[in-house]
Amino acid sequence: MARILDGKVIAAAVKQDLAMEIAQLREKEVQPKLVVVLVGDDAASASYVRSKERMARELGLEAEVIKLSADVSESELMRQIELQNADDSVDAVLVQLPLPEHIDTDWVLMGVDPTKDVDGFHPQNIGRYAIGSPLVWPCTTAGILEILERANAPVAGQTAVVVGRSRIVGWPTAQLLLAHNATVVQCHRQTRNLAEFTRQADILVVAAGQAGLIRADDVKAGAVVIDVGINRVDGHLVGDVDFDSVVQKAGAITPVPGGVGPLTVAMLMKNTVRLARIRRLTKEDER
Ligand code: ADP
Repeated sequence: MARILDGKVIAAAVKQDLAMEIAQLREKEVQPKLVVVLVGDDAASASYVRSKERMARELGLEAEVIKLSADVSESELMRQIELQNADDSVDAVLVQLPLPEHIDTDWVLMGVDPTKDVDGFHPQNIGRYAIGSPLVWPCTTAGILEILERANAPVAGQTAVVVGRSRIVGWPTAQLLLAHNATVVQCHRQTRNLAEFTRQADILVVAAGQAGLIRADDVKAGAVVIDVGINRVDGHLVGDVDFDSVVQKAGAITPVPGGVGPLTVAMLMKNTVRLARIRRLTKEDER
């Protein structure tokens, strides 16, 4: 039976460390601030934004949500982002995705000041993945590393297989594992014989959005399996991994819900604190 990697427990530990760090920063009169830009009234986005706001307040971060209507023009959205870029009290700017169809998401994400790019989606940060040192890794990817580290799962030298190459999860996660010296294979929709690759994985990250994609036969005995999928099947949330069979064979596995999900918001807070430190503290302050 695999060890269950409980995201809620790990996220609670991250939050505890962060609350202390934020309290120390506030003693140095550094008050980290996150601004979330929310366009339109999609219920799921609104609920994600509320949970971000709630966790920020809980930890002593300042958080502000800028709500814009679904028919906001691209130029007005950009103007709002530029106001945040120019505001010295703001450390982190997050544009909640997805944006409405009439808005060019790539263009908007390029408008965020790269030093305030808390999601790590600005091309300048993406370019920094290539040298293994972005200012911050995207929140889900950062959460995966946090899980591996806190589970004492080695990464260097391991064979890591990432199923999925979205720019939000799959691609940055493969880059992060490579930066930590894993041997990385990235699979995607056109990969032939997926199982031949996944069966080699010491670390298997699945972010494909396909319920039941990975079954026990597709997994090496003892592997660490990180399931990033969130699918609704018959009213229940399930991942991309068939938990009941894979749990019998893997060495460790994240459940869905309650695995990677709880880490994602916590890592947004951690990224905000990191950007605040980089912007506001000199090397001497950091000593
Ligand atoms: P997410 O945001 O969770 O990464 P996306 O829907 O944006 O999800 O991306 C899904 C990714 O998963 C894509 O890169 C796609 O190529 C990959 N994918 C989807 N289905 C399969 C599959 N059956 N086998 C391998 N990769 C897949």
